[in-house]
Amino acid sequence: MLPTKAYAAPAARAPLAPFAFERRDLRPHDVLIEIAYCGVCHSDLHQVRDEWGGAQFPMVPGHEIVGYVQAVGPEVKNFKVGDAAGVGCMVDSCRTCPSCQEGLEQYCETTGMVGTYGGREPGTGRPTYGGYSNQVVVDEKYTLRVPAGLDLARVAPLLCAGITTYSPLRQWGVGAGHRVAVLGLGGLGHMAVKIAAAMGAEVTVLSTSPGKEADAKALGAHQFVVTKDAAQLKAAANSFDFIINTVSAPLDLAAYLGLLRRDGTMILLGVPPEAPQIPAFSLIGKRRRIAGSLIGGIAETQEMLDFCAAHNLMSDIELIAIKDINEAYERMLKGDVKYRFVIDMATL
Ligand code: NAP
Ligand code: ZN
Ligand code: ZN
Repeated sequence: MLPTKAYAAPAARAPLAPFAFERRDLRPHDVLIEIAYCGVCHSDLHQVRDEWGGAQFPMVPGHEIVGYVQAVGPEVKNFKVGDAAGVGCMVDSCRTCPSCQEGLEQYCETTGMVGTYGGREPGTGRPTYGGYSNQVVVDEKYTLRVPAGLDLARVAPLLCAGITTYSPLRQWGVGAGHRVAVLGLGGLGHMAVKIAAAMGAEVTVLSTSPGKEADAKALGAHQFVVTKDAAQLKAAANSFDFIINTVSAPLDLAAYLGLLRRDGTMILLGVPPEAPQIPAFSLIGKRRRIAGSLIGGIAETQEMLDFCAAHNLMSDIELIAIKDINEAYERMLKGDVKYRFVIDMATL
Protein backbone atom coordinates (compact mmCIF):
# COMPACT_ATOMS: atom_id res chain seq x y z
CA MET A 1 0.00 0.00 0.00
CA LEU A 2 1.12 3.57 -0.71
CA PRO A 3 1.18 6.00 2.24
CA THR A 4 -0.53 9.20 1.10
CA LYS A 5 -0.84 12.69 2.56
CA ALA A 6 -4.07 14.64 2.23
CA TYR A 7 -6.52 17.12 3.67
CA ALA A 8 -9.87 15.70 4.74
CA ALA A 9 -13.13 16.75 6.32
CA PRO A 10 -13.48 14.44 9.36
CA ALA A 11 -17.26 14.96 9.55
CA ALA A 12 -20.01 16.92 7.81
CA ARG A 13 -19.46 20.70 8.05
CA ALA A 14 -16.16 20.23 9.95
CA PRO A 15 -13.13 22.19 8.71
CA LEU A 16 -10.64 20.29 6.55
CA ALA A 17 -7.44 19.22 8.31
CA PRO A 18 -4.36 17.10 7.52
CA PHE A 19 -5.14 13.40 7.04
CA ALA A 20 -3.08 10.31 6.18
CA PHE A 21 -4.26 7.14 4.41
CA GLU A 22 -3.04 4.52 1.94
CA ARG A 23 -3.64 4.25 -1.80
CA ARG A 24 -3.83 0.77 -3.30
CA ASP A 25 -0.77 -0.89 -4.80
CA LEU A 26 -0.76 -0.60 -8.58
CA ARG A 27 -2.89 -3.11 -10.45
CA PRO A 28 -1.77 -4.09 -13.99
CA HIS A 29 -3.72 -1.26 -15.68
CA ASP A 30 -3.12 1.43 -13.03
CA VAL A 31 -1.11 4.61 -13.18
CA LEU A 32 0.27 6.39 -10.12
CA ILE A 33 0.03 10.16 -10.51
CA GLU A 34 1.93 12.60 -8.34
CA ILE A 35 -0.61 15.41 -7.99
CA ALA A 36 0.69 18.88 -8.84
CA TYR A 37 -2.58 20.83 -8.69
CA CYS A 38 -6.20 20.23 -7.76
CA GLY A 39 -9.07 22.60 -8.51
CA VAL A 40 -11.72 23.46 -5.94
CA CYS A 41 -15.25 22.80 -7.23
CA HIS A 42 -18.43 23.98 -5.55
CA SER A 43 -19.43 20.29 -5.51
CA ASP A 44 -16.58 19.76 -3.02
CA LEU A 45 -18.22 22.28 -0.73
CA HIS A 46 -21.74 20.83 -1.16
CA GLN A 47 -20.38 17.39 -0.24
CA VAL A 48 -18.15 18.46 2.65
CA ARG A 49 -21.31 19.99 4.11
CA ASP A 50 -23.34 16.89 3.17
CA GLU A 51 -25.88 19.10 1.39
CA TRP A 52 -26.87 16.32 -1.03
CA GLY A 53 -27.09 13.57 1.62
CA GLY A 54 -25.17 10.29 1.77
CA ALA A 55 -21.68 11.78 2.10
CA GLN A 56 -18.91 9.51 3.49
CA PHE A 57 -16.48 10.78 6.12
CA PRO A 58 -13.62 11.26 6.45
CA MET A 59 -13.81 12.88 3.01
CA VAL A 60 -10.82 13.88 0.89
CA PRO A 61 -12.46 16.08 -1.77
CA GLY A 62 -11.03 17.05 -5.13
CA HIS A 63 -11.89 15.97 -8.67
CA GLU A 64 -9.97 18.44 -10.81
CA ILE A 65 -6.63 16.67 -10.65
CA VAL A 66 -3.48 17.17 -12.74
CA GLY A 67 0.02 15.92 -12.18
CA TYR A 68 2.76 13.69 -13.53
CA VAL A 69 2.82 9.92 -13.91
CA GLN A 70 5.21 8.45 -11.37
CA ALA A 71 4.76 4.73 -12.02
CA VAL A 72 2.67 2.48 -14.27
CA GLY A 73 1.37 -1.07 -13.97
CA PRO A 74 2.75 -3.74 -16.35
CA GLU A 75 -0.28 -3.66 -18.71
CA VAL A 76 -0.49 0.14 -19.08
CA LYS A 77 -0.40 1.13 -22.78
CA ASN A 78 -1.09 4.86 -23.00
CA PHE A 79 1.00 6.46 -20.25
CA LYS A 80 4.65 6.39 -19.26
CA VAL A 81 6.55 7.80 -16.30
CA GLY A 82 6.83 11.60 -16.56
CA ASP A 83 3.68 12.16 -18.68
CA ALA A 84 1.30 14.94 -17.65
CA ALA A 85 -2.03 13.35 -16.76
CA GLY A 86 -5.41 14.32 -15.37
CA VAL A 87 -8.27 12.78 -13.41
CA GLY A 88 -11.79 14.17 -13.25
CA CYS A 89 -14.92 13.24 -11.33
CA MET A 90 -14.86 9.47 -11.85
CA VAL A 91 -12.27 6.73 -11.49
CA ASP A 92 -14.27 3.71 -12.68
CA SER A 93 -17.70 2.41 -13.75
CA CYS A 94 -19.15 -1.00 -14.73
CA ARG A 95 -17.65 -0.79 -18.27
CA THR A 96 -20.29 -3.12 -19.77
CA CYS A 97 -23.72 -1.41 -19.63
CA PRO A 98 -25.01 0.46 -22.71
CA SER A 99 -23.96 3.87 -21.34
CA CYS A 100 -20.44 2.68 -20.52
CA GLN A 101 -20.18 1.04 -23.94
CA GLU A 102 -21.18 4.35 -25.55
CA GLY A 103 -18.50 6.23 -23.65
CA LEU A 104 -21.04 7.86 -21.34
CA GLU A 105 -19.61 6.33 -18.18
CA GLN A 106 -21.02 9.14 -16.04
CA TYR A 107 -24.47 7.69 -16.72
CA CYS A 108 -23.43 4.09 -15.89
CA GLU A 109 -26.63 2.10 -15.46
CA THR A 110 -25.55 -0.75 -13.20
CA THR A 111 -23.07 0.26 -10.51
CA GLY A 112 -23.16 3.97 -11.33
CA MET A 113 -19.90 5.79 -11.91
CA VAL A 114 -17.32 5.43 -9.15
CA GLY A 115 -16.72 8.94 -7.84
CA THR A 116 -13.12 10.09 -7.49
CA TYR A 117 -14.08 10.65 -3.88
CA GLY A 118 -17.11 9.59 -1.91
CA GLY A 119 -17.35 6.33 -3.88
CA ARG A 120 -16.30 2.73 -3.28
CA GLU A 121 -13.21 1.27 -4.95
CA PRO A 122 -14.14 -1.69 -7.20
CA GLY A 123 -12.63 -4.91 -5.93
CA THR A 124 -11.99 -3.78 -2.37
CA GLY A 125 -15.05 -1.73 -1.46
CA ARG A 126 -12.79 0.76 0.29
CA PRO A 127 -13.77 4.44 0.18
CA THR A 128 -12.35 6.50 -2.67
CA TYR A 129 -10.40 9.62 -1.72
CA GLY A 130 -9.94 12.61 -4.02
CA GLY A 131 -7.33 15.03 -5.18
CA TYR A 132 -6.60 17.15 -2.12
CA SER A 133 -3.69 14.72 -1.70
CA ASN A 134 -0.17 14.17 -2.94
CA GLN A 135 -0.86 11.16 -5.20
CA VAL A 136 -3.62 9.09 -6.75
CA VAL A 137 -3.85 5.61 -8.29
CA VAL A 138 -6.25 5.32 -11.24
CA ASP A 139 -6.92 2.80 -14.01
CA GLU A 140 -5.51 4.26 -17.22
CA LYS A 141 -8.96 3.94 -18.86
CA TYR A 142 -10.17 6.72 -16.53
CA THR A 143 -7.00 8.83 -16.85
CA LEU A 144 -6.76 11.77 -19.25
CA ARG A 145 -3.82 12.93 -21.35
CA VAL A 146 -2.96 16.59 -20.80
CA PRO A 147 -1.91 18.18 -24.10
CA ALA A 148 1.62 19.58 -24.14
CA GLY A 149 2.32 23.26 -23.74
CA LEU A 150 -0.51 24.13 -21.33
CA ASP A 151 -0.10 25.67 -17.87
CA LEU A 152 -0.91 22.68 -15.67
CA ALA A 153 -2.40 24.72 -12.82
CA ARG A 154 -4.82 26.38 -15.24
CA VAL A 155 -5.71 23.02 -16.82
CA ALA A 156 -6.87 21.43 -13.54
CA PRO A 157 -10.35 23.05 -13.55
CA LEU A 158 -11.01 21.73 -17.05
CA LEU A 159 -11.35 18.24 -15.52
CA CYS A 160 -14.71 19.21 -14.00
CA ALA A 161 -15.71 22.82 -14.79
CA GLY A 162 -14.45 22.44 -18.37
CA ILE A 163 -16.09 19.13 -19.25
CA THR A 164 -19.32 19.89 -17.39
CA THR A 165 -19.90 22.92 -19.59
CA TYR A 166 -18.38 21.52 -22.81
CA SER A 167 -20.54 18.38 -22.78
CA PRO A 168 -23.99 20.06 -22.95
CA LEU A 169 -22.75 22.68 -25.41
CA ARG A 170 -21.71 19.81 -27.72
CA GLN A 171 -24.79 17.71 -26.98
CA TRP A 172 -27.11 20.56 -27.99
CA GLY A 173 -24.96 21.53 -30.99
CA VAL A 174 -24.29 25.06 -29.82
CA GLY A 175 -22.51 27.24 -32.35
CA ALA A 176 -22.74 30.28 -34.62
CA GLY A 177 -26.25 31.74 -34.75
CA HIS A 178 -27.14 30.65 -31.22
CA ARG A 179 -27.72 33.07 -28.38
CA VAL A 180 -26.43 31.44 -25.20
CA ALA A 181 -26.82 32.82 -21.69
CA VAL A 182 -24.57 31.67 -18.87
CA LEU A 183 -26.32 32.03 -15.52
CA GLY A 184 -23.77 32.50 -12.69
CA LEU A 185 -20.17 33.53 -13.36
CA GLY A 186 -18.16 31.18 -11.15
CA GLY A 187 -15.96 28.18 -11.92
CA LEU A 188 -18.37 26.47 -14.32
CA GLY A 189 -19.77 29.75 -15.62
CA HIS A 190 -16.45 31.24 -16.69
CA MET A 191 -15.54 28.07 -18.60
CA ALA A 192 -19.00 28.03 -20.23
CA VAL A 193 -18.38 31.57 -21.47
CA LYS A 194 -14.98 30.71 -22.93
CA ILE A 195 -16.10 27.47 -24.56
CA ALA A 196 -19.43 28.76 -25.94
CA ALA A 197 -17.68 31.81 -27.41
CA ALA A 198 -15.01 29.56 -28.96
CA MET A 199 -17.82 27.48 -30.51
CA GLY A 200 -19.09 30.65 -32.20
CA ALA A 201 -22.18 31.43 -30.10
CA GLU A 202 -23.25 34.90 -28.99
CA VAL A 203 -22.78 34.77 -25.23
CA THR A 204 -24.52 36.74 -22.47
CA VAL A 205 -23.60 36.46 -18.80
CA LEU A 206 -26.49 36.66 -16.32
CA SER A 207 -24.98 37.57 -12.98
CA THR A 208 -25.93 38.82 -9.54
CA SER A 209 -22.52 40.56 -9.34
CA PRO A 210 -22.32 43.91 -11.22
CA GLY A 211 -18.56 43.97 -10.53
CA LYS A 212 -17.98 40.97 -12.83
CA GLU A 213 -18.97 42.78 -16.06
CA ALA A 214 -15.47 43.68 -17.26
CA ASP A 215 -14.22 40.16 -16.52
CA ALA A 216 -17.17 38.61 -18.35
CA LYS A 217 -16.36 40.63 -21.48
CA ALA A 218 -12.66 39.73 -21.19
CA LEU A 219 -13.61 36.05 -20.94
CA GLY A 220 -15.47 36.36 -24.25
CA ALA A 221 -19.03 37.38 -23.35
CA HIS A 222 -20.74 39.80 -25.71
CA GLN A 223 -23.38 41.03 -23.22
CA PHE A 224 -23.76 41.23 -19.47
CA VAL A 225 -27.05 41.37 -17.57
CA VAL A 226 -27.27 42.18 -13.87
CA THR A 227 -30.07 39.87 -12.76
CA LYS A 228 -30.92 41.95 -9.69
CA ASP A 229 -31.85 44.84 -12.01
CA ALA A 230 -35.49 44.27 -13.03
CA ALA A 231 -35.22 46.57 -16.04
CA GLN A 232 -32.20 44.70 -17.44
CA LEU A 233 -33.91 41.36 -16.89
CA LYS A 234 -37.07 42.58 -18.63
CA ALA A 235 -35.07 43.81 -21.61
CA ALA A 236 -33.58 40.31 -21.99
CA ALA A 237 -36.97 38.52 -22.04
CA ASN A 238 -37.57 35.93 -24.80
CA SER A 239 -34.08 36.27 -26.20
CA PHE A 240 -31.97 33.13 -25.61
CA ASP A 241 -31.80 29.73 -27.31
CA PHE A 242 -30.03 28.26 -24.28
CA ILE A 243 -29.43 29.16 -20.66
CA ILE A 244 -26.56 27.26 -19.05
CA ASN A 245 -27.59 27.37 -15.39
CA THR A 246 -24.55 27.03 -13.13
CA VAL A 247 -26.01 28.50 -9.96
CA SER A 248 -25.17 26.61 -6.78
CA ALA A 249 -27.87 28.19 -4.58
CA PRO A 250 -31.68 27.94 -4.54
CA LEU A 251 -33.10 30.05 -7.34
CA ASP A 252 -36.45 31.26 -8.72
CA LEU A 253 -36.24 29.36 -12.02
CA ALA A 254 -39.42 30.91 -13.42
CA ALA A 255 -37.78 34.35 -13.44
CA TYR A 256 -35.07 33.03 -15.77
CA LEU A 257 -37.17 30.69 -17.93
CA GLY A 258 -38.89 33.85 -19.22
CA LEU A 259 -35.59 34.83 -20.84
CA LEU A 260 -35.76 31.86 -23.23
CA ARG A 261 -37.15 32.18 -26.74
CA ARG A 262 -39.85 29.86 -28.02
CA ASP A 263 -38.36 26.33 -27.99
CA GLY A 264 -35.41 27.52 -25.90
CA THR A 265 -33.75 25.21 -23.38
CA MET A 266 -32.44 25.79 -19.89
CA ILE A 267 -29.72 23.26 -19.06
CA LEU A 268 -29.35 22.67 -15.33
CA LEU A 269 -25.78 22.11 -14.20
CA GLY A 270 -25.89 23.59 -10.71
CA VAL A 271 -27.19 21.34 -7.94
CA PRO A 272 -28.56 23.52 -5.13
CA PRO A 273 -29.48 21.62 -1.97
CA GLU A 274 -33.18 22.43 -2.39
CA ALA A 275 -35.28 21.40 -5.42
CA PRO A 276 -36.61 24.32 -7.49
CA GLN A 277 -40.28 25.12 -8.20
CA ILE A 278 -41.19 25.06 -11.90
CA PRO A 279 -44.53 26.75 -12.70
CA ALA A 280 -45.97 25.05 -15.81
CA PHE A 281 -46.87 28.37 -17.45
CA SER A 282 -43.20 29.37 -17.55
CA LEU A 283 -42.66 26.47 -19.99
CA ILE A 284 -45.87 25.80 -21.91
CA GLY A 285 -46.49 29.32 -23.23
CA LYS A 286 -43.40 29.09 -25.42
CA ARG A 287 -42.75 25.33 -25.59
CA ARG A 288 -39.62 25.84 -23.49
CA ARG A 289 -37.58 22.97 -22.09
CA ILE A 290 -35.58 22.24 -18.97
CA ALA A 291 -32.77 19.70 -19.23
CA GLY A 292 -29.83 18.57 -17.13
CA SER A 293 -26.34 17.29 -17.77
CA LEU A 294 -23.75 15.48 -15.66
CA ILE A 295 -20.02 16.08 -16.29
CA GLY A 296 -18.98 14.18 -19.47
CA GLY A 297 -17.64 10.77 -20.52
CA ILE A 298 -13.96 9.92 -20.61
CA ALA A 299 -13.61 10.15 -24.41
CA GLU A 300 -15.48 13.45 -24.43
CA THR A 301 -13.28 14.77 -21.62
CA GLN A 302 -10.23 13.99 -23.77
CA GLU A 303 -11.94 15.72 -26.71
CA MET A 304 -12.58 18.77 -24.48
CA LEU A 305 -8.93 18.92 -23.38
CA ASP A 306 -7.82 18.76 -27.02
CA PHE A 307 -10.40 21.45 -27.97
CA CYS A 308 -9.16 23.70 -25.16
CA ALA A 309 -5.55 23.16 -26.23
CA ALA A 310 -6.42 24.00 -29.85
CA HIS A 311 -8.18 27.22 -28.78
CA ASN A 312 -5.72 28.00 -25.98
CA LEU A 313 -8.52 27.94 -23.40
CA MET A 314 -7.61 27.49 -19.76
CA SER A 315 -9.22 28.45 -16.49
CA ASP A 316 -8.64 31.79 -14.79
CA ILE A 317 -7.40 30.76 -11.37
CA GLU A 318 -6.33 31.87 -7.92
CA LEU A 319 -3.60 29.52 -6.75
CA ILE A 320 -3.83 28.76 -3.01
CA ALA A 321 -1.91 26.82 -0.37
CA ILE A 322 -3.80 23.82 0.98
CA LYS A 323 -3.86 25.28 4.49
CA ASP A 324 -6.12 28.04 3.12
CA ILE A 325 -8.80 25.66 1.81
CA ASN A 326 -11.37 26.41 4.52
CA GLU A 327 -11.10 30.15 3.87
CA ALA A 328 -11.38 29.49 0.12
CA TYR A 329 -14.70 27.69 0.72
CA GLU A 330 -16.03 30.74 2.58
CA ARG A 331 -15.02 33.00 -0.29
CA MET A 332 -16.54 30.63 -2.87
CA LEU A 333 -19.85 30.76 -0.99
CA LYS A 334 -19.86 34.53 -1.47
CA GLY A 335 -19.12 34.25 -5.21
CA ASP A 336 -15.73 35.82 -4.46
CA VAL A 337 -13.32 33.84 -6.66
CA LYS A 338 -11.76 34.75 -9.99
CA TYR A 339 -12.75 32.26 -11.18
CA ARG A 340 -11.49 29.01 -9.72
CA PHE A 341 -9.35 28.25 -6.70
CA VAL A 342 -6.61 25.75 -7.47
CA ILE A 343 -4.55 24.13 -4.72
CA ASP A 344 -0.79 24.05 -5.25
CA MET A 345 -0.10 20.56 -3.94
CA ALA A 346 3.55 21.42 -3.28
CA THR A 347 2.16 23.18 -0.17
CA LEU A 348 0.84 19.90 1.28
P1 NAP B 1 -19.14 28.64 -8.06
O1 NAP B 1 -17.77 28.84 -8.60
O2 NAP B 1 -19.40 28.92 -6.62
O3 NAP B 1 -20.12 29.52 -8.97
C1 NAP B 1 -21.50 29.62 -8.75
C2 NAP B 1 -21.98 31.00 -9.21
O4 NAP B 1 -23.40 31.05 -9.04
C3 NAP B 1 -21.46 32.14 -8.37
O5 NAP B 1 -20.20 32.62 -8.79
C4 NAP B 1 -22.53 33.21 -8.58
O6 NAP B 1 -22.32 33.89 -9.81
C5 NAP B 1 -23.79 32.37 -8.75
N1 NAP B 1 -24.58 32.35 -7.50
C6 NAP B 1 -24.19 31.92 -6.29
N2 NAP B 1 -25.17 32.06 -5.39
C7 NAP B 1 -26.21 32.60 -6.06
C8 NAP B 1 -27.52 32.98 -5.69
N3 NAP B 1 -27.96 32.85 -4.42
N4 NAP B 1 -28.34 33.48 -6.64
C9 NAP B 1 -27.90 33.63 -7.91
N5 NAP B 1 -26.66 33.30 -8.31
C10 NAP B 1 -25.83 32.79 -7.40
O7 NAP B 1 -19.62 27.15 -8.29
P2 NAP B 1 -19.20 26.09 -9.45
O8 NAP B 1 -18.02 25.32 -8.99
O9 NAP B 1 -19.18 26.77 -10.75
O10 NAP B 1 -20.43 25.07 -9.38
C11 NAP B 1 -21.74 25.52 -9.67
C12 NAP B 1 -22.76 24.45 -9.41
O11 NAP B 1 -22.60 23.40 -10.36
C13 NAP B 1 -22.64 23.76 -8.04
O12 NAP B 1 -23.95 23.52 -7.55
C14 NAP B 1 -21.94 22.46 -8.35
O13 NAP B 1 -22.21 21.45 -7.42
C15 NAP B 1 -22.55 22.14 -9.69
N6 NAP B 1 -21.78 21.21 -10.52
C16 NAP B 1 -22.48 20.35 -11.31
C17 NAP B 1 -21.83 19.50 -12.17
C18 NAP B 1 -22.60 18.62 -13.09
O14 NAP B 1 -22.06 17.61 -13.56
N7 NAP B 1 -23.83 18.96 -13.43
C19 NAP B 1 -20.43 19.48 -12.18
C20 NAP B 1 -19.74 20.39 -11.39
C21 NAP B 1 -20.42 21.25 -10.55
P3 NAP B 1 -22.63 35.46 -9.98
O15 NAP B 1 -21.76 36.17 -8.99
O16 NAP B 1 -22.25 35.72 -11.39
O17 NAP B 1 -24.10 35.65 -9.74
ZN1 ZN C 1 -16.84 19.48 -9.86
ZN1 ZN D 1 -21.89 1.03 -16.76
